[in-house]
Amino acid sequence: MPTLDSISGTLKILDKYGFKFNKRFGQNFLIDANILDKIVTGALITKDDTVLEIGPGIGTLTQYLCERAKKVIAVEIDKTLIPILDDTLSEYDNVTVINEDILKVDINALVRDHNEGRPIKVVANLPYYITTPIIMGLFESDAEIESMTVMIQKEVADRIKTGPGSKDYGALSLAVQFYSKPEVIANVSPECFIPKPNVGSSVIRLSRYETKPVDVKDYRFMFRVIKAAFSQRRKTLANCLSSCKEFGIDRETAAGYLEKMGLNKDIRGEKLTLEQFAVLSDIMIKGLEV
Ligand code: SAM
Repeated sequence: MPTLDSISGTLKILDKYGFKFNKRFGQNFLIDANILDKIVTGALITKDDTVLEIGPGIGTLTQYLCERAKKVIAVEIDKTLIPILDDTLSEYDNVTVINEDILKVDINALVRDHNEGRPIKVVANLPYYITTPIIMGLFESDAEIESMTVMIQKEVADRIKTGPGSKDYGALSLAVQFYSKPEVIANVSPECFIPKPNVGSSVIRLSRYETKPVDVKDYRFMFRVIKAAFSQRRKTLANCLSSCKEFGIDRETAAGYLEKMGLNKDIRGEKLTLEQFAVLSDIMIKGLEV
């Protein structure tokens, strides 16, 4: 039975272990039963599912996941939380806690070892300071991940849904568009956490597409083009591409690729759609092969 989904339950365990929050790790623990229920319900967890939880903290969301899933793998970086998790999760025999930095974990190996390569679901109240590298890393790992249901900063959730031309449009919005269908499950006030974050939060579910929305020869290459395109937002796309050593092209060649697509040679990366990045990436691959 969950025991931590209230301010009193949380304070009791923090007190017992004399736990001190570590700002460096983005620690804001959930204390609202209604939001915890919305997360696990929104994640569509069933007794057949293996779930990867990133940053279990003291185990608040973990307890909810253990109740609903077949198996939970929880990866926590802060070693001072491990004895607390041993205590708060002692009732459950379907959970494995790994004391690691999620950005260093081999996600493919984890899925293989813990779920025989079958798709897993990711559920997390993410540490906000590394939201983008975590989401991009999970997508780029190509691991069998069916969906990610994650609490993120509301501003980042809004950015994920923006299209070309907006100042918030970037590599993350394009990656989400390419890999998954995003849905907002709930907006969450700072009052639902201890300590309170100084930003609003949203829970979003990213459900992986079976068929990708655009055709592209090499999508890993396309994402290298996208990252280069947004590396210096004030520069034109041709300048960004030519300053990226990996591509080994000068400004004129880059501008030539854009003109070939019917685009202005001085266009900025933020004006291109996902489809246009796919075409550009195919043209560049051809050009680089010659
Ligand atoms: N799941 C808990 C909850 O909802 O109450 C805690 C969420 S808290 C926002 C983020 C958690 O991620 C913290 O426990 C923090 O220590 C952990 N964390 C931070 N950076 C991490 C990393 N690189 N790898 C794994 N866990 C990390």
